[in-house]
Amino acid sequence: MRCPYCNHDQSKVIDTSHDNRGGIRRRRECENCHQRFSTYERPILATPLIIKQDGTREEFNRDKLVRGIRIACAKRPVSAADIDRLVGEIEASLQKMGRAEVSTRVVGDLVIKGLKDLDHVAYIRYAIVYLRLDDLQAIQKEINNILES
Ligand SMILES: [Zn+2]
Repeated sequence: MRCPYCNHDQSKVIDTSHDNRGGIRRRRECENCHQRFSTYERPILATPLIIKQDGTREEFNRDKLVRGIRIACAKRPVSAADIDRLVGEIEASLQKMGRAEVSTRVVGDLVIKGLKDLDHVAYIRYAIVYLRLDDLQAIQKEINNILES
């Protein structure tokens, strides 16, 4: 990091602090002119924006996704760590798509796919809400699909 005062490229870090958004702030002192300055490093969020059904965009919200999945997994033998891992995988999949934005549908499909492997009951619960399986026959068909596979 070049000194903003004298352009010297060696500085020593005299203090490091983390903020709650994953950023790191470093207080530095130039080894040449001894002026002090700060640098700030933060991760670049490559997770695409989520396009909601009404067409508005929102940031990918990990906590919100965890909450939704947790509700589907209530009283099921699925640990908090499992849910956390699933959400991590979903976020990683979204990032790998390398797109600026994706629809909620893409996220929902990833959740559905993940839950299917994790817990069938949680999967059906989520599917009923997400796929709007509002009649018993559609739900039965989905259950039959699972039982057959
Ligand atoms: Zn300097």
